[in-house]
Amino acid sequence: TNSVELRQKLVAAVLQVVESHAEELTSLDQAIGDGDHGINMKRGFEAVAADAASLTAKPWPEFLKAVGMTLVMKVGGASGPLFGTLFMTLGKELPLEPSQDDLVKAFRAAIVAVQGRGKAEPGQKTMLDVLIPVAEQLEGGNRDLDALAAKGHAAAEATKPIKAIRGRASFLGDRSIGHMDPGARSSALLIEAVAGVLK
Ligand code: ADP
Ligand code: MG
Ligand code: MG
Repeated sequence: TNSVELRQKLVAAVLQVVESHAEELTSLDQAIGDGDHGINMKRGFEAVAADAASLTAKPWPEFLKAVGMTLVMKVGGASGPLFGTLFMTLGKELPLEPSQDDLVKAFRAAIVAVQGRGKAEPGQKTMLDVLIPVAEQLEGGNRDLDALAAKGHAAAEATKPIKAIRGRASFLGDRSIGHMDPGARSSALLIEAVAGVLK
């Protein structure tokens, strides 16, 4: 497949996974936040999909930057600027024709940018608790995409016993314990969708 088609498939796959899990993401956020994470993500990725024809015609760096900017504008909340930063940084870091190694390096740089933006560390019950273990697995040389998706889902599960230190869930203190972080769940779903296309 050429790269325009690949970008179209990626846009379709992330939209599909976000739409089909919007209610679940919302109910996770109802437990430890303000109940809008599913709506936020759906609004953001629907805006990306609505603009897919022009976005996917751009080369990888410009495509990813434009996706990131759309997410910043449309997702809102805490997660919009953070997912936006993730995609915009991927766009900034990637060359025109990225290799696997380029992707792994850019993914790490994007996570560092998200950490800077949100002032969060791993272990604080956020999206970082999925993104970082997945990056580590990639950096460790495991490029098996099914294993990567599985790692993301296991890492999202592993946010359940954590007490939230960042984001709205931190307002609950100990009452955040026992619930999966919504942004960790959505991150795992996005990784699964991307992995499914790249396979
Ligand atoms: P809001 O909390 O503003 O309503 P969302 O519900 O869309 O925004 O997103 C909440 C998710 O954002 C959380 O589940 C968490 O994963 C993520 N998040 C919140 N604050 C931070 C932060 N400082 N760093 C990383 N991720 C964060
Ligand atoms: Mg919320
Ligand atoms: Mg909100």
